[in-house]
Amino acid sequence: MEKNAEKIWTNCLKIIKDIVEWQHYKTWFEPIKPVSLKNSVLVIQVPSQFFFEYLEEHYVNLLAKTLKRELGKEGRLEYRIMVDSGNKNTQPLMMDIPGHGYKMYPNNEMDFPLIINNPVKNPFVIPGLKKVQIDPQLNPIYIFDSFIEGDCNRVARRAGKTVAEKPGANSFNPLVIYGGVGLGKTHLAQAIGNEVKRTNPTKVVLYVSSEKFINQFMDHSRNNAINDFIHFYQLIDVLIVDDVQFFAKAEKSQDALFAIFNHLHQSGKQLILTTDKPPKDLEGVQERLLSRFRWGLSADLQIPDYDTRIEILERKMKNDGLEMPKEVVKYIAYNISNNVRELEGALISLLAQSSLNRREIDLDLAKKVLRNFVKSSSKEITIDTIQKMVCDFFDVPYDKLLQKTRKREIVQARQITMYLSKAFTKNSLKTIGEHFGGRDHTTVIHSCQTVKDLMDTDGVFRENVLELQQKVQLAAM
Ligand code: ADP
Ligand code: MG
Repeated sequence: MEKNAEKIWTNCLKIIKDIVEWQHYKTWFEPIKPVSLKNSVLVIQVPSQFFFEYLEEHYVNLLAKTLKRELGKEGRLEYRIMVDSGNKNTQPLMMDIPGHGYKMYPNNEMDFPLIINNPVKNPFVIPGLKKVQIDPQLNPIYIFDSFIEGDCNRVARRAGKTVAEKPGANSFNPLVIYGGVGLGKTHLAQAIGNEVKRTNPTKVVLYVSSEKFINQFMDHSRNNAINDFIHFYQLIDVLIVDDVQFFAKAEKSQDALFAIFNHLHQSGKQLILTTDKPPKDLEGVQERLLSRFRWGLSADLQIPDYDTRIEILERKMKNDGLEMPKEVVKYIAYNISNNVRELEGALISLLAQSSLNRREIDLDLAKKVLRNFVKSSSKEITIDTIQKMVCDFFDVPYDKLLQKTRKREIVQARQITMYLSKAFTKNSLKTIGEHFGGRDHTTVIHSCQTVKDLMDTDGVFRENVLELQQKVQLAAM
């Protein structure tokens, strides 16, 4: 047991040593002693209460990140603190305290830049950190090479390439990419980020969804750390903000975005934004922000035509090492015409069916699968349907779901309903909020986050949500 703790801690120290300046390392990390490792909880002994507080205040994210690397996402840290050093007659008195940093951040947030989640006074200035390290949050599969060009996206794709070649130093700043669901906004925006990182590794790139931006802003605002939040974003060379339509009505977050936008733009840094509608149609977004969006280039993504759809399918198959008769490819491309995500979905269903039934992919199978696929995707689940299902499931009266009741069962039922509506319908957060007695979209964001968090920590809750999820899925078929 103790050997393990020793080993894990030594590995952590190797990483920490690289990041933290020597003097700080000596002061704050060398005196730490690993004590035990049980069920992914590493206990470390620190000399004093003050020592513990200092570590928690300044190094919580660093510790969390390195520990997660060694122990997986279950990894937790506990501190053993000497409360009383004892004397001839008494043993030293020790106390174990869980690292509170872990409770504050949901697990999946740990990967986010080392610094930004730290709601202490100055989140990115970790004392002694050699340099600011920021994980760009890019998915490496989204590159230009796999983004097929067609009439539907030529302008946007080429503008994206130009931006990637000369971030900040081109006339497309900001680059605003707009288009409907599943048409490649996220892919293209991330391709720019990946390309910049490939050709210019020292550039600081950050991809962030608007939801995450808004959530983090609210966290910082609760902790009186808005300036830190804004300063952090001002460190970025290429900032990609996905789905800015979610900023609608989030007034305070818009103010922050505005400040960040101005600073970056003036400093010759690049901004890339995506939205599901042209900037002029973005309701609930301040005019001064919209006018900034118009400074650069707005480029749209359209539904790909038949030939482009074939090319996309063929490229996808090639990347995944798959083969199927040309007539099948044509059949899919002909029948699935709405968006690229559905196109990929059809391909995956077909593969799944073929391997499940140990059957070669041929036109017959494609027809059978696509019949299901088209049917399932055409049967739209509505928020009302989900509301009724959840009410039935928890035996909650429908009108209670919409009122401002604070009773726990009802609050949870309401949060789950919002969460499922977000997952299974194409409604905006705003629309979802409106279906719950006119709540605003930040309430919906908060509810979704709460459900995710509770699913991580509460087994019964999790079972309930999963069961409901299955019911909704079945209803959609
Ligand atoms: P959006 O963000 O607009 O909703 P995504 O960027 O998530 O859409 O794209 C949906 C899926 O379709 C992704 O898997 C993406 O790789 C794929 N895709 C979209 N456009 C293209 C394209 N032109 N070439 C290849 N794949 C594409
Ligand atoms: Mg997207």
